[in-house]
Amino acid sequence: MTSPNRSNSDLLAEVTATPGGERVGTCYQCGTCSGSCPTATAMDYTPRALLHMIRLGMGERVLHSRAIWLCTTCYSCTTRCPREIGITETMVGLRSLAIARGVPVPENLVRLRDTVSTNYNISGDDNATRLIWSQNLDEEALVFQQKREAPVLFFVGCVAAFYPMVYGIPQALAQVMLAADVDFATLGGEEWCCGYPLFSAGMEEQVVPLMKHNIEQVKAMGAKTVVTTCPSCYHTWEHIYPRLASSPLGFEVLHASQFLAQLMQGGKLKLKGVEDTATYHDPCDLGRKSGVYDAPRQVIEGIPGLEFIEFESNREHALCCGGGGDVQIVDESVTAAVAARRVQQARKTGARILLSACQQCKRTLMTAARKEKVRVRVMDIAELVWRAVEG
Ligand code: SF4
Ligand code: SF4
Repeated sequence: MTSPNRSNSDLLAEVTATPGGERVGTCYQCGTCSGSCPTATAMDYTPRALLHMIRLGMGERVLHSRAIWLCTTCYSCTTRCPREIGITETMVGLRSLAIARGVPVPENLVRLRDTVSTNYNISGDDNATRLIWSQNLDEEALVFQQKREAPVLFFVGCVAAFYPMVYGIPQALAQVMLAADVDFATLGGEEWCCGYPLFSAGMEEQVVPLMKHNIEQVKAMGAKTVVTTCPSCYHTWEHIYPRLASSPLGFEVLHASQFLAQLMQGGKLKLKGVEDTATYHDPCDLGRKSGVYDAPRQVIEGIPGLEFIEFESNREHALCCGGGGDVQIVDESVTAAVAARRVQQARKTGARILLSACQQCKRTLMTAARKEKVRVRVMDIAELVWRAVEG
C-alpha cells in the first residue's frame, strides 16, 4: 500500500503509470472534456481542472475531491479529447490511488465492496434467489433452470436479477430464446457479480476472484456463447476479463442486442409487429465503451410496423443516463439530474417508446420520465422483441 504521506508531486508520476493516464501530461486545457461531462456542474473541480491540478502537484486536493467519485465513467470526454487522453480511465485510476493512499472513500462504496465480497451481488440479497425474476414464467418455460450444460449461457447480471423494476428484461429475453428454440441455461445462484461496480470504484483487485469463479462456471457448463442484457456485464466479460486473465476466454461473448440481431437475421423469430414510434438511447457501456451501435438499431429497424426516430444526440454523441460509475449510490441527486436531461431530449423526438439496451438505463430513465412528467414508455429492446413476438 502507498504511504499516505507521499508527496503531492508523486501523483503525476502515479497517474501517468496507470492505464489510460499515460498522456495526462499532454493536456492543453481546451476544456472539451468538461464541456461534455454530464456531472461537471455537480463536481467541485471539472475534469479539466483536475488534470491541471495533477500537473501542478496538487495531488492531495485532487484525491480528496468529490469530483473523482461523481464521474459516471460515461467516456464522453475520452471520446472527444483532442489529445487522446484516457480521462475516464484516469478518473477510475484516481479512485484506486485514493483508496491506496487511505483517503476516505464514500461510505456507500465501502458497503458495496463488502456486500459484493460476501453476498456475490450488489443488492445484498441471498444469491441463491437470483432467478426470482423467472417466477412468473410458465412452467414449461422454466426448463432452463434445471440445465447444467447448454451451448448458450444467459448471464443475467445483478440489476436484472434483484431489482423488480427491471425483471421484465430477463423475462423477455428468456421467452424470446425459448420462442427461437435456443438451448440455453443460467448459472442460477452460482452466478456472481461480474465485478464491474467494483472495477468502476477503483477496486480492480476485488474483481479477480469474481472473474475466476464466473469463468470456471461457464466452462463447466460447456457454453460456447455467453449472452447478457447488461452492457456493463458485457463490457466486463468482453474487454476486462481477458485483460485481467491475461488470456482469451475461449468462448464468445455477446450483448443481447447482438444475439437478437443474429436470431432475427437468421429467421429464427416470427415477428408480428409493433405499430408505434420509438427512439433509442445508447448505453455508455455498450456504445462509447464497447463500440456496439449497429446491432440495437438492426433489431429496432427489423420490427415490422415500428417507426424509429433517432435522438438529436445519438451513437458516440449520446448523452449519459447518469446511472454509471457508481454515482447513483454516491449521490442519487446527481444521477437524477443527468437522467432528467436525457428524458427531456427524448420528449423532443416525439417518440412514444424510449428504448435502451440496459437495465440500469431503464431504471434511471423510467424514474426520470415519471419525475419530469415525460409521457414516454421506457423499454429494453429485449422487451420490444418479445412484444413483437407476442403481437
Ligand atoms: Fe485536456 Fe483533453 Fe480535457 Fe482538452 S479535452 S482539457 S486536452 S483532457
Ligand atoms: Fe465526465 Fe463522463 Fe468524463 Fe467522467 S467519463 S469525467 S462523467 S465526461
